[in-house]
Amino acid sequence: MDEDGHTQGYVSDGIVYLQITLDEYNLRATSQEYTMETILHEVIHAYLSAVTNTYSDPDNWQHQAMVGWVDCEREALQEIFPSLPAADANALAISGLKNAAGINTSMFNDLLTTYGLTDQQIVNTEQSYQLPHGSGKGTPCD
Ligand SMILES: [Zn+2]
Repeated sequence: MDEDGHTQGYVSDGIVYLQITLDEYNLRATSQEYTMETILHEVIHAYLSAVTNTYSDPDNWQHQAMVGWVDCEREALQEIFPSLPAADANALAISGLKNAAGINTSMFNDLLTTYGLTDQQIVNTEQSYQLPHGSGKGTPCD
C-alpha cells in the first residue's frame, strides 16, 4: 500500500469497481504538484488493475510496470503545471516508486540512470514539494 494514497478494486456482476483513497492527513500541507502526482500514481494503479482484471494485492507487479510510466506521468504533470521542470516531474514520478513494493534496488538504480537522477535528488525533490510553505517548491494548495 502506498503512503499517501491507496487504490482498491473488485468486480461484481461484470462491473469493475475502483476506489482511490487519498490520505488527507499526509497530503494536507503538500504542494498541488505533489498531490497531483499522488493522484496520477493511484490512477495508474486503477488502470492497471482494470486492464489486467487483477485486484488482489497488486502493488508488487504494478510498481514494476509503473517504471515504464514515468514519461507519461512527467508529461501529465507538465501539462497541468507548465512551469514544473522536467527533472522535478521525473523525480516526483520516481519518488512514488522509491522503496515501493516490487521495486528492488537494481530496478530503482536503473531508473535513476535512465533519468539522470541520484537517490538524493529524488529524496530532496519529494521533500521540497511536500513542504510548499517556506522553503518548499511548488504551488500551495490553499
Ligand atoms: Zn503504488
